[in-house]
Amino acid sequence: MRKAFIAGNWKMNTNCAGAEGLASGLAEKLKGIETVDIAVCPPSVYLQSVAKALSSSNIALGAQDVYFEGSGAYTGEISCEMLKDVCCTYVIIGHSERRHKIGETDELINKKLSAAISSGLLPIFCVGELLEQREAGETETVVAGQVKKGLAGLNADKVLAVTVAYEPVWAIGTGVNATSQQAQEVHAMIRQLLADMYDESVAQQIRIQYGGSAKPANTAELMACEDVDGLLGGGASLKVNDFAAMIKTVA
Ligand code: PEP
Repeated sequence: MRKAFIAGNWKMNTNCAGAEGLASGLAEKLKGIETVDIAVCPPSVYLQSVAKALSSSNIALGAQDVYFEGSGAYTGEISCEMLKDVCCTYVIIGHSERRHKIGETDELINKKLSAAISSGLLPIFCVGELLEQREAGETETVVAGQVKKGLAGLNADKVLAVTVAYEPVWAIGTGVNATSQQAQEVHAMIRQLLADMYDESVAQQIRIQYGGSAKPANTAELMACEDVDGLLGGGASLKVNDFAAMIKTVA
């Protein structure tokens, strides 16, 4: 059985006091929950403060991005070791906002995944189609292509560190989530692809989160899908009560 995993992506939101308050509010509300893996991913400048607020809690810390090089002349970038140094367990890689607004390619995402896994970080690897791609019937081709290119060269041992997050771009931040049927279809396709790329045992162990306007009201229905193992929330993860309610629905 795959343990449910719910993570919050705070994106470029909050300030120092707000991030600390959100983290300590969640730590208090979610005390004692052991049946769900929980993580929050604040902006990188607040990782250290949030790490302090979460110390001795059951909430893990994640970053929203990482660079693949170890150190050196890469102005503005942050390495895997730096993230580990400030207590990160997880790192989001390949989020659609980085793919489509910042211009990250599958090749860059692949290098980041490889570096993160080698360093011991656990990547949350995001994939998902644009609205026009879904409307053109290209969802499977687009998502399968992202999975194959992102995981290229990673052997079975390494890929077990990955959580895949299926995030249809048209559902992110729009308030319109994928239906449970749409989510299940793509999740099942991803799991079959992982079985083809690796083997059935690997495919059954890898968690696949859904992301895109996930909120307390749709958590139970989405999580009831056989291949939906967790959620990656954006907007809802910025509200203590909403994020806590999503986790308590699953716990
Ligand atoms: C996200 O950014 O990963 C996300 C799913 O955002 P939202 O929940 O706000 O749609």
